[in-house]
Amino acid sequence: MNELAKLDRRYLWHPFTQMRDWLRHKPLVITSGKGAVLRDANGCEYLDANSSIWTNLHGHNHPKINAALRRQLGKVAHSSALGLANEPASLLAEKLVEAACLYQVGRESSRAEISKKKSGLDGVSPHLNKVFFSDDGSTALEVALKLAYEFTRRTRSAGSLPASLSRTVPRFLSLEGGYHGDTVGVVSLGHIDLFHQSYSGLLFKTDKVMAPYCYRCPFNRARPERADAREYRKCNWECVGKVEQKFSAQKKRGNPYAAFVFEPLMQGAAGMIPQPAGWLKRAAEIARGHGALLIADEVMTGFGRCGVESRESGVESRAKTVWPSALGSRPSAFLFACHHEGVQPDFLCLAKGLTGGYLPMAATLTTQKVFDAFLGEYGEFKTFFHGHSYTANQLGAAASLASLEILQSAESNRQRAQLQKYLLDELQSLWPLPAVGDIRQTGLTAGVELVKDWRTRRPFDLRERAGIRVCEAMAKRGVLTRPVGNVIVLMPPYCTTPAQLKKMVATLHDGIAATLGT
Ligand code: PMP
Repeated sequence: MNELAKLDRRYLWHPFTQMRDWLRHKPLVITSGKGAVLRDANGCEYLDANSSIWTNLHGHNHPKINAALRRQLGKVAHSSALGLANEPASLLAEKLVEAACLYQVGRESSRAEISKKKSGLDGVSPHLNKVFFSDDGSTALEVALKLAYEFTRRTRSAGSLPASLSRTVPRFLSLEGGYHGDTVGVVSLGHIDLFHQSYSGLLFKTDKVMAPYCYRCPFNRARPERADAREYRKCNWECVGKVEQKFSAQKKRGNPYAAFVFEPLMQGAAGMIPQPAGWLKRAAEIARGHGALLIADEVMTGFGRCGVESRESGVESRAKTVWPSALGSRPSAFLFACHHEGVQPDFLCLAKGLTGGYLPMAATLTTQKVFDAFLGEYGEFKTFFHGHSYTANQLGAAASLASLEILQSAESNRQRAQLQKYLLDELQSLWPLPAVGDIRQTGLTAGVELVKDWRTRRPFDLRERAGIRVCEAMAKRGVLTRPVGNVIVLMPPYCTTPAQLKKMVATLHDGIAATLGT
């Protein structure tokens, strides 16, 4: 066995991994990468079909990101943000604020209109203009959680509610199947029993509400078809009704929800579960109507993952049906999933793809209003007492700036629109497989749900390891991805060529056929 593999087996403990299984196999040791390809210590090449757990955007070893990092390394790698500012973090914060602006600042808008919109005074959209950097998806959500909690406590006690209520603990609502990271605070917001239940004794109480899952929705009266379940569902938007009921019931209890936390358009760790067009806009309107803050977890969905809407990509329907006319004409390319439905959160949580998949870095964007609630004389102790050693790290910020520049180029938009269309086309080849129950794609993320028989939607027991076995079969054929339960994830880096994409899907086909039959 390779020396590095031996060291790994002797010393490492891998995340989300049954180490007994791990120790039965020779580990695959990655030594280099280029574009969508990863190479191991034996010189074998693999396609990175889940973008290294949903982080990589433009491919490995990207010359522009590499160059930006080298330039930054020649200056300084890290200095603390506790008490000091730095160049790339300041520049990045400005770029993120611009990208988080929901409005198209086009020629048709007057200066007054723009500044009204930016100040949030148009009544439709909070303007996100403050950036708090941290380290990863979990910390980005921890920051939003603590800010929302404290903001609510402070503003409620300022007289917006009777004194008796102002002392109640701000309460959070999140989605069934929600996943927001693994640190204890955000585990409290998560609702995946397999990951979260054992820690229930450590957690604070939050509430959950039904999330759309058209393929397995108890309200969907449609019989299984060979198509994305969102397209043929028969229902009356009962899932939206559940959101309304939950907010109303909590209001009656006298402690309206402080915040609604959600992954917009697609719930990742729940099993790549996409929301039907219009759900997000409706749910957000309900939450706003009940005075809740919106916390959007775009750790997975951000930075273009949820797609480019264009004729080329063949996905225009969401834009047509849900873009609020109050927002004027609709921009063609959004970086954030919320914006596809004209939803602007109060907290936008970003990580994974922020640095293009190079370094751990995260950002929580929020509003002037939230920021102002933490202002005061030092002795009032209104400071946000929270921070991490590597907050606003220069190398991470330099990589992020380079990644954003690539992402916002016309070339990247065109390439992503095309890749999205190829993915849509290629995935159709999986329908003839009886173990394929649902294929769901949102932009450049796709989940393929494996079932015992597509006619009955009967699921595999997790102990059968259907998803794991299919991914092992794919790895043997040169394509790497990880399942979430019985769902195989395809999330190609944006630089993936048509031939590479074809190979990813064909290998998935062969992996399923070899493991679960044809
Ligand atoms: N939120 C979402 C939606 C995620 O998918 C993840 C990670 N898969 C996280 C938060 C946590 O991110 P991290 O692993 O970087 O802490």
